[in-house]
Amino acid sequence: MICINCGQSTQSLYVTYSSDHIKLTDCAKCGEVVDCYVEFDNILLFIDLLLLKREAYKHLVFNSLETELSKFEKNKEDKGSSSIAQRLRSWCSRNDRLNRLWIIILAFEIYLTWVLEEQRSHFLKTSLQDTSWTCMEDVLQKTSLEQYSFFSFYCFMDLMLFRYFTERLLLSHLQWGKEYKYAGDIISYTILLSYGAKIFPVLMLIWPYDSAASTFIIKGVANLYIIEALRMVTNKSYSHIFTLFVAVCILKSICIKALICLLVSGFNIGVSIELMKRDYQAASHKISSLLLSQ
Ligand SMILES: [Zn+2]
Repeated sequence: MICINCGQSTQSLYVTYSSDHIKLTDCAKCGEVVDCYVEFDNILLFIDLLLLKREAYKHLVFNSLETELSKFEKNKEDKGSSSIAQRLRSWCSRNDRLNRLWIIILAFEIYLTWVLEEQRSHFLKTSLQDTSWTCMEDVLQKTSLEQYSFFSFYCFMDLMLFRYFTERLLLSHLQWGKEYKYAGDIISYTILLSYGAKIFPVLMLIWPYDSAASTFIIKGVANLYIIEALRMVTNKSYSHIFTLFVAVCILKSICIKALICLLVSGFNIGVSIELMKRDYQAASHKISSLLLSQ
């Protein structure tokens, strides 16, 4: 656990007395209360997260997460070694709250991606008279169930690869988190909280928000949230985090493109390579068409 103001490690956030009265711990370094969010209502905490308050993020990803995971670690030690099924059950119960949040965000992401791809395809055909054929066009010709299955897989892999590459680059390349026991979980939770910006459309259900422009704006805002959240939690510079973010997006895009082509080709490697070439040619053609139409 840490002081959310200066980052100094601390043994406890508060002391409980016999009458259920608690006293918040003062930081030995800065003299402030180590974590005032212990007494905050969840609504206020949520608003502070939306406002990108550094202290709110630190309270959740360092102190709140460690409190929850340490309870689980204690139970695990009590139970001792277990089978694969028990380990899987343990993993599910350990990450229960985080997994539920990931599923909610994934559901919104599937819907938004599906809408965006349909609108993009329609726009290219009607406005740019673009007749080039890509893997995504193949997918959009399939049945609704097949399309939903495809976009579910696509968004799931997109999230998992983003999380994996961010974690790997931060931990091994930028050498962050050596002093934290749950460094991987901290990064994962930070991405999860900042990805919450993609839930904004829920607040706009009464307006016709699902246009390509608004979806692009929401994706842009969510990306800014992720960059800012990672910077606040890791204390790295903007240049480091921005470079990491661009690198992760490039790596993720290459992997996702390869996966889509493999899926569409029925896992035929030769056909997949041809599909990838066709997609890149189509992309360069679209860019040149857009530039000429300006
Ligand atoms: Zn402090």
